[in-house]
Amino acid sequence: MVLVPLAQAQRILLDSATPLEPARIALREAFGHVLAAPAISAEDVPPFDNSAMDGYALRAADASTPPSTLQVIATIAAGRPGNVVVGPGQAARIMTGAPIPAGADSIVMVEQTEAADDGATVRVLTSVGDADHVRRAGSDVQVGIAILDVGVVLGPSQLGLLASVGEDRPLVHPRPVVGVLATGDELAEPGTPMRHGQIRDSNRAALLACLERDRFVAVDLGIVVDDYAAVRERIEAALSECDALLTSGGVSVGDFDHVKRVVSELATAHGRGAMAASIGVAIRPAKPFAYAFLNGRSHDTAPVLGLPGNPVSSLVSYELLARPVLRRMAGHTDPVRWETVGRAGEDFSRTPDGKTHFVRVAAEPSGDGVLEARSSGGQGSHQLSAMASANAFAVLPDGEGVRKGETLGLLVLDPP
Ligand code: AMP
Ligand code: MG
Repeated sequence: MVLVPLAQAQRILLDSATPLEPARIALREAFGHVLAAPAISAEDVPPFDNSAMDGYALRAADASTPPSTLQVIATIAAGRPGNVVVGPGQAARIMTGAPIPAGADSIVMVEQTEAADDGATVRVLTSVGDADHVRRAGSDVQVGIAILDVGVVLGPSQLGLLASVGEDRPLVHPRPVVGVLATGDELAEPGTPMRHGQIRDSNRAALLACLERDRFVAVDLGIVVDDYAAVRERIEAALSECDALLTSGGVSVGDFDHVKRVVSELATAHGRGAMAASIGVAIRPAKPFAYAFLNGRSHDTAPVLGLPGNPVSSLVSYELLARPVLRRMAGHTDPVRWETVGRAGEDFSRTPDGKTHFVRVAAEPSGDGVLEARSSGGQGSHQLSAMASANAFAVLPDGEGVRKGETLGLLVLDPP
């Protein structure tokens, strides 16, 4: 089997994946979504000239040479502007965020004043300039401008910004609804008795958690036995309720690996033969991979992504191949995780085999702040324990490996 370089496999998949149809959703539900159109401000922020300080609003000309004594005519709280007009020789007590009253043009902070005991007058102890501590209307955002670009991920500050201009229903790409189906006659649910020859289904729990971590909507489709008709029926049924499907197992060269055939025959049935294949990706672990883009619940490029069965392989395959596809569907413009530069904390030896190796490592900042990585344990594709103590994959390009102290590419994985 020809091995497809990882970048090429990612490109093929990303070329076939399409972002889900945009929809307006409540701001409160929008965290983590990707904007599908630029957000245009309908309001000025701040909406009016206001005070940046607790102090006094006055006419700068009245307080250019300290000290000056002014008559205090009112108190203006945030949200309670009243009908105050500040005349010559007058000042109004003002709180942070309150509108600048008519007649006043500057603010002196309370720390630079002395109020008379009865509050009727105030002594200004500093020289007040033009528009001191005045926050102008529109000085953060002006009405009509694009405040956030298409493709921006809505995190805390972006959601705050949208709220600040009164936007309550941003146009975003929906989160893909993604089903996870485990295949294998040998699989037993955690919490059930095991017969000889059975193993626990660990992939489903792990993959469902990946989906939740990445803010997709995870649907548990259970386990299906290694039977062509059963696998096909379960995948077809799931397509009517999901935007994308992940399967685990059944994509290698075993006698009972039906997922490959199901995926390719469904693609033919859906008239999308060109958008399906079983490939070997030039990576280790996680070489086997099958995919098809089919008619799904909401669109006609619903990916069915066949991940390998070995537990570490299925997670590596998710990270490198499935996650980018799902992120593209969610509208992300940078679907593939960035590789960061770290340092080998030990020798990472390997032999040339035409593949890029992804080694499970524990990486932490060393004394000089550079991320230093060491193997987190046994590197077999069935050895999930080393994956569970890893926070990154070290990327070893084809060749002899990386020596201790040398630069090392890292894919740092998100914490839960
Ligand atoms: P397969 O690709 O189906 O031949 O599976 C490869 C290896 O992964 C076999 O040792 C399977 O028993 C194991 N495996 C398959 N599915 C799972 C699963 N859901 N959880 C844990 N191990 C699995
Ligand atoms: Mg199997």
